[in-house]
Amino acid sequence: MPSITTPPPLVTPEDEAYDAARQAWNLAADPRPAAVATATTVDEVRAVIAHARSQGLRVTAQGTGHLASALPSLERTLLLKTQMAGPIAVDAAARTARVPAGTTWEPVVMAAAEHGLTALHGSAPDVGVVGYTLGGGLSFYAREYGMAANHVRAIEVVTADGEPRRVDGEHDPDLFWALRGGGGAFGVVTAIEIELLPIERVYAGAIFWPASDAPAVMRAWVDWCATAPSSITSSMRILNLPPLPEVPEPLRGVPHIAFDGAFVGDAAAGAESIAPLRAAAPPKIDMFAEVPATAVMRIHGDPEEPVPYLSRDAMLGPLDEAAIDAFLAVAGEGSGSPLVAAELRQLGGALREAPAGAGVTGSMPAEFMLFGVGMMMAPEHAEAMPPALERVISAMRPWETGLRYLNFAEAGGSAEACFAADAYARLVRTRREWDPDGLFVSSHDIS
Ligand SMILES: Cc1cc2nc3c(=O)[nH]c(=O)nc-3n(C[C@H](O)[C@H](O)[C@H](O)COP(=O)(O)OP(=O)(O)OC[C@H]3O[C@@H](n4cnc5c(N)ncnc54)[C@H](O)[C@@H]3O)c2cc1C
Repeated sequence: MPSITTPPPLVTPEDEAYDAARQAWNLAADPRPAAVATATTVDEVRAVIAHARSQGLRVTAQGTGHLASALPSLERTLLLKTQMAGPIAVDAAARTARVPAGTTWEPVVMAAAEHGLTALHGSAPDVGVVGYTLGGGLSFYAREYGMAANHVRAIEVVTADGEPRRVDGEHDPDLFWALRGGGGAFGVVTAIEIELLPIERVYAGAIFWPASDAPAVMRAWVDWCATAPSSITSSMRILNLPPLPEVPEPLRGVPHIAFDGAFVGDAAAGAESIAPLRAAAPPKIDMFAEVPATAVMRIHGDPEEPVPYLSRDAMLGPLDEAAIDAFLAVAGEGSGSPLVAAELRQLGGALREAPAGAGVTGSMPAEFMLFGVGMMMAPEHAEAMPPALERVISAMRPWETGLRYLNFAEAGGSAEACFAADAYARLVRTRREWDPDGLFVSSHDIS
């Protein structure tokens, strides 16, 4: 490799630009790194790594900061924002896209759609492709196609020794395995080559009912999940949306129960599949329809601007009557829950088993994902939200599988909580091999 050039400008706590530079997408996160740099080329990434080493600093890579609440103290750490220059290169014949780090899902999905293709993106268009995929990647196509990390052809990464590498199933396969689900502890990813899906249209959307219908709707959904085809992936949420202008008028300030998801197939088959849910209670709003695949990015209605929030998560096994009652008692009508959302995502299908050659997060060993979100908009929320989130998690503890999903484990901590013991031991070995000095700081520690 040519010699390393000077690093891009560093922003330090003494600089006026520091607060803007360190800000993450989750505004409740308060990262205070020793310095912030933004890299747009591989050489700049190498220069930042060399500079950090020379100053005795560690390095943490960030795309958007959606997972910033999980980061540990960054006191002796340089925050490296990866905004790599270059196009999203779609190879329509090969059904792949090379995506520079820092790119969010929306431009990738739009570029793929020009060729009648789509990607295994998540529920928000502005989540980073790299961070999402390094954490596993659970999409609304997951029950049919599995984790997004199972659809990665190659990863371009600068490792702790400052060397740029392109890793895949044949080149540094251990590193390739660890990067596909183990997060950002193994290097700074500069680009990722992902597979695209030949899907142009889907039957997708959301249905809303008043929260008073939650017992009937939730029971119908849990029953339906047991036999639903893998061609549909869905979520069920109790929503308490604030009375803000950006919230659709009928949903403002009134609790609802919402079903959303995507069915890969034609509209008639999709409608037949979700008929038991429509029959559970008369919907207040029914937006399920045949739509272009690009619409799937917004069916969940996630915020697309930075917001302050706190969340808690758990993976759950099969849910019985007692589980539904327990969930509704802490999140449903009359519970007094201040949470903006208490969500269950449907797993199963192709998520049950890791395909041959998968990365560390090749499957999802659970039936449902539990996710609670509290907005931190006012000072009193700092007191109200943590116990409200804890109530939901505690209520569902009897159904927990014990493992967590890295992308949703926003409270951070050790990655050990996210993996089976043998997988975690292999991650630790791989980390020691590729980052023996512990240069990289990631959302979930691996050591
Ligand atoms: C509104 C919302 C909706 C979401 N929906 C889904 C969903 O449907 N399915 C799902 O699976 N997840 C979902 N997530 C979780 C999301 O996938 C994770 O937060 C993910 O880590 C975000 O990636 P990012 O790059 O945007 O965030 P960042 O905070 O920038 O990155 C997260 C971590 O990834 C690593 N990383 C990022 N970039 C690099 C890089 N260039 N090199 C090395 N490491 C890097 C770092 O460890 C970093 O701490 C959602 C999150 C939010 C807030």
